[in-house]
Amino acid sequence: MAYLQFLGAAGTVTGSKHLINTSADGAGRRGFQVLIDCGLFQGQKEWRLKNWNDIPIPAREIDAVVLTHAHLDHSGWIPRLFKEGFRGKVYATPPTIDLCGVVLPDSGHLQEEEARFHNRKGTSKHIPALPLYTLEEAQDCLRFFEPVEFGETRQLSPEFSFRFVHAGHILGSSMVEVFLRHDGGRHKYLFTGDVGRVPIKQAPGRVVHSGPAPQEDPEILVMESTYGNRVHPREDVRPELADLIRRTVQRGGSVVVPAFAVERTQKFLFLVKELMETNQIPRLPVFVDSPMAIKAVEIYLKYSNEFTDEARELIRRYGSPLEWMGFTFAASAEESKKINGVQFPCIIVSSSGMVTGGRVLHHLMLRLPDPRNQVIFIGFQAPGTRGAIIKAGARSVRIFSEEVEIRAQIAALEQFSDHADTEELLHWLKTFSLKPETTYLVHGEPGAALLLQEAISSQLGWNVKVAEWLQKVALA
Ligand SMILES: [Zn+2]
Repeated sequence: MAYLQFLGAAGTVTGSKHLINTSADGAGRRGFQVLIDCGLFQGQKEWRLKNWNDIPIPAREIDAVVLTHAHLDHSGWIPRLFKEGFRGKVYATPPTIDLCGVVLPDSGHLQEEEARFHNRKGTSKHIPALPLYTLEEAQDCLRFFEPVEFGETRQLSPEFSFRFVHAGHILGSSMVEVFLRHDGGRHKYLFTGDVGRVPIKQAPGRVVHSGPAPQEDPEILVMESTYGNRVHPREDVRPELADLIRRTVQRGGSVVVPAFAVERTQKFLFLVKELMETNQIPRLPVFVDSPMAIKAVEIYLKYSNEFTDEARELIRRYGSPLEWMGFTFAASAEESKKINGVQFPCIIVSSSGMVTGGRVLHHLMLRLPDPRNQVIFIGFQAPGTRGAIIKAGARSVRIFSEEVEIRAQIAALEQFSDHADTEELLHWLKTFSLKPETTYLVHGEPGAALLLQEAISSQLGWNVKVAEWLQKVALA
């Protein structure tokens, strides 16, 4: 019997890993085994610790990974899977592979730094504390990535084939249509990965033009539910952003923006540039502090054909951010440290986006205690992350084993979201040409998933379930 099993992003947002086994018959034959996504658990400790656990089947018995997009909660466990013996291929779209080439080694670097930190401070139960994987191990596994274009059907075994269709979430992001041949029939299942903004009304966060692909007709739908309980503000983000920046400058403070280094940072930079060029904010210095930032800009510009007309127009008008006056890209640690000495108002964009690690920790440690400063969140903050703690209005947050007082102003601009909200998800589901037999909701906190389940079953009359961690589902 073919089955699907949820090995991650069930009961939580992060750690996406969905296993398909084509014919586990219990008689020694294990079938062809594919992981759709292979992400890191981030956020709450009880989930993060699962990054150290083996998955229920040996990694060497997995035949392939099909990856929806480059975000770490979908891709960040791939180097660990290799470390545990996986020797198959990782299939992804060309932009996703380029982005992983930057994001995965950086993740390895952060793991190593964290282990070094714990060893220095003696703050780990494990002696020595080890990284989940190293920069080198992450780099090494990249040669097993194989590009697959959108719309191309790829046969991986006699019974298993798949096709990427646009998800409209971030650069290169896809949904996976899986086709299984069994019991003499061909069955179609759809894994959404993360669903981008659906083009209804005004969705000002939308930069990637296409998707999610309409008129889908899977038997089983596995869909994300990150914003299953929310509606994003529909108004243009620019006036609010300009206002926040102007007021910070008037106070003599600086703006710190924790942002995913690849794509999200570039999107933000173009908006800031436009606000400056149209005199909506003063021309204050902008520091982009991430070791990956320069490479990330190049990838962003390389795939500009994936963007909306508006985003493309900005790129055409202003060219490469690497050449803009007043914008400084800090690649080295020394360049990064220099930003600490900047006393006049400036904008610092730094990763990681959920403040789980990276150079943004140093900037926040220095600037959070000063009420003149402003922190702006432009991305989802998973519960349990420092980002979520700061965003929720806590008075202090733990950084490098120290309790850092939060007196800076905190804002979150939800318009930047790359995830469809409830209304947009429903709008997309209404385009389906066939009602799925069952829809499983993944990639959401329990509350969000439950509300979305209610909304879909009451408005569309669909059979919807909230996926549970390690739950197995028989595939026809
Ligand atoms: Zn994502």
